[in-house]
Amino acid sequence: MSQNQLPVPAAVIHPDARGYWEGTTREVIVLQRCDDCDTVIWFPRAICPRCWGSKLSNFEASGRGTVYSWTRTNKGMADYRDAGPYILAYVELAEGPRLMTNLVGFDGDPKIGDAVQATFDKIDDESALLRFGPA
Ligand SMILES: [Zn+2]
Repeated sequence: MSQNQLPVPAAVIHPDARGYWEGTTREVIVLQRCDDCDTVIWFPRAICPRCWGSKLSNFEASGRGTVYSWTRTNKGMADYRDAGPYILAYVELAEGPRLMTNLVGFDGDPKIGDAVQATFDKIDDESALLRFGPA
């Protein structure tokens, strides 16, 4: 499947997500881990969603994951209005969390369970968009 160039809309950087966005400029996924219960947290936030603890530490994830689910979007909205067709997917990171993202660089249809690797599309000097391609 050929894909159009996907848009890279500006990021809205919440203070709780500064570590994550800083990581994207180095092409690294920075995740949070709860110091109290070891839960790996996605999306970045101030409080652990499992134990409500507030002692969270950042760490660098591997960038590896697998396709959990995907769909082809032919007509998107807003910045993605003319970007279709493109693939919207959930990727399960090797560290556990599942995140919504785009799959890029697949010649054919991805398969559930396919190994994927993080790739980053630069937005500006403070952020890049995380997407995933074949591993
Ligand atoms: Zn916790």
